[in-house]
Amino acid sequence: MLKIKTILGILAAIALLLPTNQPSVKANPTSSENSPPTEQPKSIYQQAKEELPEDFYALYRILERIARANKLDEKPWRIVIVPEYNINAFATDVNLIAIYNGILEQLTGDASAIACIVAHEMGHHIKKHIALSPSEKVALIEQIQQEAQREALAKKQNAQAQATGMSIGRSAARIFGGRVGRFGAAILGNASRQRSKVAQERIDEIVAQKKEELEQTLAEEARQREFEADEVGYLYSAKAGFEAEGCLRAMKVFGQTPSAEFDTTHPTVPKRIEAFKDLMVKFPATSLAEEGGALISETKPLTYSLSKDRASLRVNSSRGSSSTDDVERLFGQ
Ligand SMILES: [Zn+2]
Repeated sequence: MLKIKTILGILAAIALLLPTNQPSVKANPTSSENSPPTEQPKSIYQQAKEELPEDFYALYRILERIARANKLDEKPWRIVIVPEYNINAFATDVNLIAIYNGILEQLTGDASAIACIVAHEMGHHIKKHIALSPSEKVALIEQIQQEAQREALAKKQNAQAQATGMSIGRSAARIFGGRVGRFGAAILGNASRQRSKVAQERIDEIVAQKKEELEQTLAEEARQREFEADEVGYLYSAKAGFEAEGCLRAMKVFGQTPSAEFDTTHPTVPKRIEAFKDLMVKFPATSLAEEGGALISETKPLTYSLSKDRASLRVNSSRGSSSTDDVERLFGQ
């Protein structure tokens, strides 16, 4: 689900999409005993449906429910829809979930599958998998390369120090003089150059090997993290009452992506499907839904704030959308 190059490419774009100032929507009471029936205030969900673009409305309802069912409503979340036809989604920054147009289109009409993906990305955040960002990975690779080069340089200098062929050669020329001396110097000089060449080749090998080791470690870690995020994603979405099979359906779509089989940062789709099936047996969705349902009934719908350019949506924490409101609640206007 996560391709370093693509992500680096769009991170800058996302940064531009993030709003600095945004109008917010406050929760209206869902019941209105004191209002005349004709002037019933709209529920926040009705309001959201009218105001938000369709995909954002669905994502808002999905994320809002997952957050409340799992006590993840203590901080705000932000969703960005990446306008690219890609079967992908990723988590970055402190609370950002980015979902590509392509996956939303492929899963249109399947809220449970989308919920599994949203919950998976929330899981990456909760499990602090974001520690190594793509740019940090690039920096780490550079660092390792420099280290290997330093190591190699030290070896090279060592090799040069040992390769005293030239000076021996010159001594030979001095001692024997004439043709024999020059011949001896040439042989010893060649031996020295040969050793230097071998040392350089060894350096290149070290760099290549270290880079490969790092790639392998990172890929293995990434695959492990995907299993973890899948587990959390299943638990979160099932607690929010979504169909457990949604995760399997989401996986099927990922499996159809031509690049999926070449992706080394994710476990293979059949392995992930198998793991989901195990989870469904280990943690039955019905009891999870009961657990989450109790939490949902104790909490109020979360509010949202749509960015002015309508490119990103913040789902506010249970503390609401406005610090002004809160300070006025505490100390008056
Ligand atoms: Zn993931």
